[in-house]
Amino acid sequence: MKKTVIIGGGFTGTMTAVQLIKKSTAPCGITIINERETFNKGVAYNPYSDKHILNVITGKMSAYPDNPDHFLDWVMTRPDFQDRDKTLIANSFLPRKLYGEYLTEIWTDTVKTAETKGIEVNVIDSFVIDLDVNENSVSLWLEDDSKLTFDTCIIATGNQIPRNPAIKNHSFYESKKYFQNPWLINSVINIKSDLPVLLIGNGLTMVDTVIGLLEQGFKGEIISVSPNGFNILPHRHNGLKYTKLTEELTDNLSLFELVRLVNKHIKAVREYGVTAEPVIDSLRPHTQKIWKKFTDREKELFMSRLRHLWGVARHRIPLHIHDKIQKLQIEGRLHINAGKIIDITESENFITVEYFDHHDHTLKNIKVSRIINCTGPETDLMNVEKSFLKNCLIKGILIQDKLKLGITADTETFQVINSDGKPHESLFTLGSNLKGELWESTAVNELRGQAEKLAENLKVIRESSEMKNAETKF
Ligand SMILES: Cc1cc2nc3c(=O)[nH]c(=O)nc-3n(C[C@H](O)[C@H](O)[C@H](O)COP(=O)(O)OP(=O)(O)OC[C@H]3O[C@@H](n4cnc5c(N)ncnc54)[C@H](O)[C@@H]3O)c2cc1C
Repeated sequence: MKKTVIIGGGFTGTMTAVQLIKKSTAPCGITIINERETFNKGVAYNPYSDKHILNVITGKMSAYPDNPDHFLDWVMTRPDFQDRDKTLIANSFLPRKLYGEYLTEIWTDTVKTAETKGIEVNVIDSFVIDLDVNENSVSLWLEDDSKLTFDTCIIATGNQIPRNPAIKNHSFYESKKYFQNPWLINSVINIKSDLPVLLIGNGLTMVDTVIGLLEQGFKGEIISVSPNGFNILPHRHNGLKYTKLTEELTDNLSLFELVRLVNKHIKAVREYGVTAEPVIDSLRPHTQKIWKKFTDREKELFMSRLRHLWGVARHRIPLHIHDKIQKLQIEGRLHINAGKIIDITESENFITVEYFDHHDHTLKNIKVSRIINCTGPETDLMNVEKSFLKNCLIKGILIQDKLKLGITADTETFQVINSDGKPHESLFTLGSNLKGELWESTAVNELRGQAEKLAENLKVIRESSEMKNAETKF
């Protein structure tokens, strides 16, 4: 019986297992390794607050690529939603906790299906600390130093905690007043001082953290510092589909030509009082293809000059949350600054942060009570402490893309490429580890398709190897 292990049981690991079980025609073993608390939900759908909501509408959050209304239909069966208007719910942004419950229910149903198919399912509440690839198998070491060996291994490790920004006094990051992981509730509780709280970063996690701080009764000021200090945008034109740009998309567009094309269409929609978002959204189904065709230099240019602008246009928040953020800014409770943090020093009762203000080009000092890192998931695996992925990079089992956005892999088969440039027979990856290969490889919309494709691909590989074995015996 072939045994597969999935490292990481967030959305990606869970849905890969679900698809493997769904497609399996013969008994097999499937093991998922993930700590119990976040199993099925991962980082995104195990929020500490009910007020943390999805940034994608209900109608687009199905876990299955071939059943687009699956999440919406599931929501409509829940007692709280049964007499609500379905179109309204389809276009609304629901709590991420509810989405976590949806994934847990999918998993519970899938385990029952697995039993009927003779599939052995095993969930291990642990953390993988090392990995080795053997001739026809993969070995893993867990936190308790136990060793497990499988025929196939799928790496679905998802979001890494944010990187510590480079500052002069790096030892500050040992401080109890610094919170590197913004997705844990301890980052927003037990604030005893009236001094401001500093949030490093200005994206969706910053917004969640502001909401978390307010929910915990924090009454002081909140300061955010990020390189550009862009204002986060709301979803303004929900449902508006713009098609004119894609009609003009051709293969092999250079980055420069693409920017020119996008600007032309943004100008065209502005004449009708529409902002850039529908134009950017219309590119979404094509971004992976466009990214793959860019040269290394174009990818570098995009990362250094356009990444933040793209992020603002792509990662938007529901209008009512945006209103709340704006109100806080108007009231002087939230200050969004563009700048670079130079140094941080801790005294007994406060922390002093020195940053270079990008608006007036001066050095500024602020006193805060705590600092929460909201810069978003780290992608350079060499910077992730105590990670088996870092060990694998050192051992040459895997390599990073040039921009250090993830793991190098074949995006058709999902096979991980080793330091000799060869694909591993039994080691696969998907999800945000493919950011370097695909750029957009983060949201449910992309991940559900990858989970389905990888499961199908593994089935084909298995069937062809079984056929080969049978032929050899014959
Ligand atoms: C705060 C937040 C909100 C988001 N909201 C949305 C949204 O509304 N809509 C949307 O489409 N996308 C959203 N996303 C994008 C999100 O990344 C994906 O939707 C999806 O949840 C990613 O799932 P994942 O399983 O790949 O990663 P993760 O959710 O990060 O899960 C990975 C899992 O792997 C485990 N793991 C990692 N390393 C190991 C190891 N060595 N051993 C064992 N286990 C390990 C982790 O503990 C974790 O449970 C959000 C992301 C974040 C961070």
